[in-house]
Amino acid sequence: MAPQILIVEDELIAAENIARNLRKQGYEVVAIVDSGEAAILTAAKTNPDLVLMDIMLHGEIDGVVATEKIATHLQIPVIYMTAYADDATLERAKETNPYGYLTKPFKPQDLRTTIEIALQRHKTDKALEARYAARLCIAQEQLRELQSKEGETHGLSQLRSLDLSPDWELLATDLLSALERQEFQLHYQPQFNLKTGKVCGAESLLRWKHRERGFISPAIFIPLAEQTGSIQAIGEWVFQTAYQQIKSLYQMGYDRIPIAVNLSAYQFNQQDIYQQSIDCARRVGVPPQSIEIELTESKLVKDVEGAIWKLKSLKDLGIKIAIDDFGTGYSSLSYIQNLPFDILKIDQCFVRGIDRNIKNQAIVKATISMAHQLNLNVIAEGVETEAELDFLIQNNCNQCQGYLFSRPLTQVEFEKFLSDRMNDR
Ligand code: C2E
Ligand code: CA
Ligand code: CA
Repeated sequence: MAPQILIVEDELIAAENIARNLRKQGYEVVAIVDSGEAAILTAAKTNPDLVLMDIMLHGEIDGVVATEKIATHLQIPVIYMTAYADDATLERAKETNPYGYLTKPFKPQDLRTTIEIALQRHKTDKALEARYAARLCIAQEQLRELQSKEGETHGLSQLRSLDLSPDWELLATDLLSALERQEFQLHYQPQFNLKTGKVCGAESLLRWKHRERGFISPAIFIPLAEQTGSIQAIGEWVFQTAYQQIKSLYQMGYDRIPIAVNLSAYQFNQQDIYQQSIDCARRVGVPPQSIEIELTESKLVKDVEGAIWKLKSLKDLGIKIAIDDFGTGYSSLSYIQNLPFDILKIDQCFVRGIDRNIKNQAIVKATISMAHQLNLNVIAEGVETEAELDFLIQNNCNQCQGYLFSRPLTQVEFEKFLSDRMNDR
């Protein structure tokens, strides 16, 4: 279905122009309104996917006030359109956390790019919310788990005994058969060396294509898989598929493109990752060290000694280990000092708008210099704009990935992406 867009603009000719442009680009215009009041009412009534909002509007309330209401009460993403606005108004606008700005007059291409980025970001935000909802379920579950043995997984019947909503229960049931139905895919997001500009690796990202619900975010189904016990088989499938992808790259002539695999803390703590990687690599016929492992820092280790031992054994195999989402969990200097990581990934929340956010600039600069002192390579993720990239280059970040370069790609797209850049080898 085409994304539905509400236009709020009090200059009729300009509004009609934008509407024509949007329709030409395949969007649906749900309405054009010319005041803040009408914007709130129409947004509530039509529930569009996105609002294009002129900041300066005639009438009682301007675009910023209308946006406050639309964003907080209706959770609809808003992009501002501005021609002229004073500093105080712009400051207020910034505080509403808009999903983008368009300076009038703008080109159709800019309109499209800004909208697509906003829609994608909104999707990610929604997935995050769902992740928190899932966490809530798990927290509930963990309370009960206190009575059972640590590390035990739960079958569906135990899950049913929890107060999961019927929707979650259905999803949990479907998840158990998703592997058999071949509903999983591994997508790949290229990573770039910032010195040479060349592709230096790729992160694998798991996708579940549910037959009715379409793509479901891993942020939602991984925690569920952990609770139903299917994570073991899914994790193994991910390893196997990543190694197969590496083999396919070898056959294309690329032998220096490691594929990073994500592991949850649960997987790291409960599973024999060492044996799993050896077995999968052997089955496929590639060296185990051709993958990298990404571990999310938060709650990674309950047992530091055990974790060091596990990480060291992987390191002995030659597998590089990245600490993912750095800065969002409970990291401390001693934590990364004591654990044998090779790569530090700066979380995208620090990268977003870094060219304009002084606080994040300080955090990222300090993180990069600390990481370098500890001999860690630094990857920034979620790079979406040239300005963000410039800041990272200027501050000696080693690698990066993000929509600016490429979204996660299917296997076919990824291989085409590489062969289109043959000289990247
Ligand atoms: P993550 O490891 O932090 O992965 C980065 C997420 O950011 C991915 O979302 C990716 O699609 C998205 N992303 C990449 N570039 C950009 C950008 O420029 N802008 C924005 N707004 N987003 C960007 P995704 O694919 O939904 O994955 C969500 C999380 O699910 C991952 O976060 C990872 O923790 C987990 N995950 C993914 N695949 C696996 C897997 O195979 N196993 C496990 N255990 N977890 C996985
Ligand atoms: Ca990751
Ligand atoms: Ca990450």
